[in-house]
Amino acid sequence: MVKCVSILGSTGSIGRQTLDVIRHLGSIRVAALTAGSNVERMEEQCRSYHPKLAVMATEEAAKALCNRIGDLQTKVSWGEEGLLEAATMAEADCVITAVVGMVGLKPTLAAIRGKKRIGLANKETLVCAGELVMAQAEQYGAEIIPVDSEHSAIFQCLMGCGGKREIQRLILTCSGGPFFGKKPEELKAVTKSDALKHPNWKMGAKITVDCATLMNKGLEVIEAMRLYRVPLNKVDVAIHRQSIVHSMVEFTDGAIMAQLGTPDMRLPIQLALTYPERLPSPVERLDLFGCGELSFQKPDLETFPCLALAYACAKRGGTACPVMNGANEEAVAMFLRDEIGFYDIYRLVSQAVERVPFVQNPSLEEILESDRHAREAVRALSQEKHKSWI
Ligand code: NDP
Ligand code: MG
Repeated sequence: MVKCVSILGSTGSIGRQTLDVIRHLGSIRVAALTAGSNVERMEEQCRSYHPKLAVMATEEAAKALCNRIGDLQTKVSWGEEGLLEAATMAEADCVITAVVGMVGLKPTLAAIRGKKRIGLANKETLVCAGELVMAQAEQYGAEIIPVDSEHSAIFQCLMGCGGKREIQRLILTCSGGPFFGKKPEELKAVTKSDALKHPNWKMGAKITVDCATLMNKGLEVIEAMRLYRVPLNKVDVAIHRQSIVHSMVEFTDGAIMAQLGTPDMRLPIQLALTYPERLPSPVERLDLFGCGELSFQKPDLETFPCLALAYACAKRGGTACPVMNGANEEAVAMFLRDEIGFYDIYRLVSQAVERVPFVQNPSLEEILESDRHAREAVRALSQEKHKSWI
């Protein structure tokens, strides 16, 4: 079990639930907390958890935080440098990466080089630079424990397998999101508030929109390939509306292992902190007799083309995944500002994947550049088509 953690993105959905788990466990100290702009929530967290360091995204937000917590011992910092400092604090033996988006990549790599245990929630990191991240983790002997519920489920199914994993297939379950069962004509006019109504999970806005387009599952397919080093044709997706089976592993002999539970992220978060131990948790127990029938279906790739696009980018390799991810981050942000419609997300992302130059074996610099180009491409494409799309 870890002794002291830094949480990157402590004010978000995963960050807050991580602090809740830490409060229940009682024995883990907090070295650093980081946030984007939510100064109020960061002040509350600093007063409750007394981190040595608090980091905000901008200098302005950091100054505002300084004004509020001048009476505390906490040092305040900002920007990329602050995030890197939080990720490499000597006293922290674990870093929870709960920031949203590519901004998590450099701090994750820094924490790996510092040999920290990584509780990995930030899936964009593995999607963009999974090969690099996994190679560095191996080189530096840093443990990566997934926090994403599907990947934690697979991790749990593989616990006790030792080096002999004999995986035939990973089956990622997917709730189907708020638009399950709909046809493209019915989704043309859906709004941000429709997309933000997830049936089973309460999460940050970006990932909730990704769940509505099924891009989230596409990102998770790529995350699973990287984490478990399996080829793309061994990663399947099953729509499972109840979100009770969090994912499954089929082994070479045909046995299928699954992890079940109520949908509550505090379980995978706690395991990332306590592994290899399992400790009591406040998570509601699954009532097997009350949870109803469990169903599994194939995803509808025509209505949700983002999932098919993610498979295509994963197959292509190189910079296709970082371009898709960067374009998706930009397009989802535009959708959340009501600037584009629901299907424009897919259209912009797929066009950006075509437009941005492809590199087969990218360096970290080339990955970061692809991300920048993808965002620029989405902005340019949305201007070109703006009038006819809205
Ligand atoms: P949220 O949007 O709720 O939280 C994001 C966190 O990152 C906040 O602390 C936010 O600060 C901070 N942040 C945002 N932008 C920046 C920036 N530019 N620089 C520094 N910090 C920034 O997201 P979630 O907690 O939902 O998701 C976090 C990650 O975990 C994502 O990668 C997501 O895909 C993954 N994940 C989430 C799950 C969930 O249940 N929520 C499940 C599985 C994976 P502020 O509050 O100040 O804006
Ligand atoms: Mg997930």
